[in-house]
Order: sequence, then C-alpha cells, then structure tokens
Amino acid sequence: MRHTYCPDCGAKLAERPVGDEGLVPWCRNCGRPWFDSFSTCIITAVMNDRGEVLLQRETRRPEREVLVAGYIKPGESAEDAARREIAEETGLTVTALRYVASYPHMNGDMLMLGYAATAEGENRTDSGEILSARWTTLDEAVAALREGSIAQQVVRKVRDAQDTHNPE
Ligand SMILES: [Zn+2]
Repeated sequence: MRHTYCPDCGAKLAERPVGDEGLVPWCRNCGRPWFDSFSTCIITAVMNDRGEVLLQRETRRPEREVLVAGYIKPGESAEDAARREIAEETGLTVTALRYVASYPHMNGDMLMLGYAATAEGENRTDSGEILSARWTTLDEAVAALREGSIAQQVVRKVRDAQDTHNPE
C-alpha cells in the first residue's frame, strides 16, 4: 500500500528522493519517509517424522486444501509466528523449522515467508478454524494443492530439495 497521508500527523505527503530508493512519500511535518507498506505472513509445510506433509481444510473455505498460514503480529519474529500458528491450528509442537523462500502476493500488498516445519504431538482439528486435516506424501500434496498457489510452490521446493539431498 502506498501512503498518501502521513500515518502519524495526517499531513498530505510529498515525494522526495531517499538514498537509492528513488522518490518516496515524505512528510514535511515529521521529516521522515513513509515507504510502501504490506502485511507479512508465514506459510508452512508442516511435516511429521515420516516426511509427510499436513494438508488442512478450513471451515471458512472448505473447497480447497491449504497449508498452515497466518499473519505475523507486530513485534513477533517470523519463526515465532510459524510456531504459534502451527500450535493454534494443529496442536502440534514444532521441533525443527527452516526457511524455504518468500513469495509476494496480492499485487504486493502481502509478502508470504515460506517455511518447512517438523512437528510432533497429536494433530487436533478442534480449533474451530479447521474442518479436517490429513497427512500426505509431498508428491500427493503438490498434486492436491491449487495449481500455481504459494502453498504448492512451497511444498514443491521442499520436495525438490529432498530429492537433491537424497538421490535414489
Ligand atoms: Zn507527519
């Protein structure tokens, strides 16, 4: 989102060159730039110790299967957000977490940070947000997730990295 008015004082913003960023919205009152803002989310391929990935159906959108995803709260690290969302949505405890890649979404209004998590414990689907969940192989998940979706891109990247590490 591009700022038109200063979020602090409400003045109409001018534009001013800032470093090598080009013209950036600038508040003359506050003497500071307001860079374009976007929300940041995490999306995680949650894996069990058999190397299967968790696909869920959400109550509000039951027609497709999705990965665990959610907004990062102000002051929270992306890794803490991933652990929190996984705990809230699945009841599972993360034992390992690794960054996969980032994906701009919604015409630049959102940046999704992709993670792969290994988790243990009992998978719950009683949070109210989740209709059902199942563990599948990475190949099955790539086929089941919406073609071209960020979820599918994350799982594909996790699968391709495993293929490279464990050549048959
Ligand atoms: Zn201002």
